[in-house]
Amino acid sequence: MKSGIGERIKLLHEILPEGVELVAVSKFQPVEAIKEAYSAGQRIFGESRVREMLEKKKELPSDIKWHFIGHLQTNKVRQLIGAPYLIESVDSIRLLKLIDEESGRKCLKSRLLLQIHVAKEETKFGFLPEEVREFFLNREYIKFKNSEICGLMAMASNTDNMERVAEDFRQVKHLFDEIKSGYGDELPEFKTLSMGMSGDWKIAVEEGSDMIRIGSYIFGDRI
Ligand SMILES: *Cc1c(COP(=O)(O)O)cnc(C)c1O
Repeated sequence: MKSGIGERIKLLHEILPEGVELVAVSKFQPVEAIKEAYSAGQRIFGESRVREMLEKKKELPSDIKWHFIGHLQTNKVRQLIGAPYLIESVDSIRLLKLIDEESGRKCLKSRLLLQIHVAKEETKFGFLPEEVREFFLNREYIKFKNSEICGLMAMASNTDNMERVAEDFRQVKHLFDEIKSGYGDELPEFKTLSMGMSGDWKIAVEEGSDMIRIGSYIFGDRI
């Protein structure tokens, strides 16, 4: 039976502008679905739970780049570090500190994005733009020797008002550019802006995103 996963992966790769990376969000999807996407050429997958990522990683080809995109509980940091290619959802200084310590303990460097809270919902995690500005202004990143801060990640407000969504993305892009031009010399890896999901990725790309995270459009509803 044809699921269409491979077709949708190929279509996305065809229509995405050059330089925009596709993260296939495979959370809650079975390994078979990931294999289909892999066969269509997809190599970056996003997972939101530690155990699920570790289990899938064991079963699937080693050239997959796993991105952790969920809220990371501090008591799961130890298990996670070393597994993902990129942690997109670093949402507090406390978490960054723990990631950095654990990475040092394991003698590795963790690549990560700082998650920015711009959406109007109160439940979403992330740094407020002012907090991030302060973090860079005070050059706090210097303390985290085992962490490579590679950019920012954000989710837009969950609304049908596409002007609002665009405004959220614009705000994060502005912050991203500000950091990049102010501190890029010291942080050469700071170059990724991850914004856009199934419902809003086109707007995100228009507003300057270079990494989109697509789940339900590729895989269908999550079980
Ligand atoms: C689930 C999830 C996605 C994918 O959402 P879809 O609407 O299914 O494309 C993207 N980013 C994050 C952080 C997620 O948790």
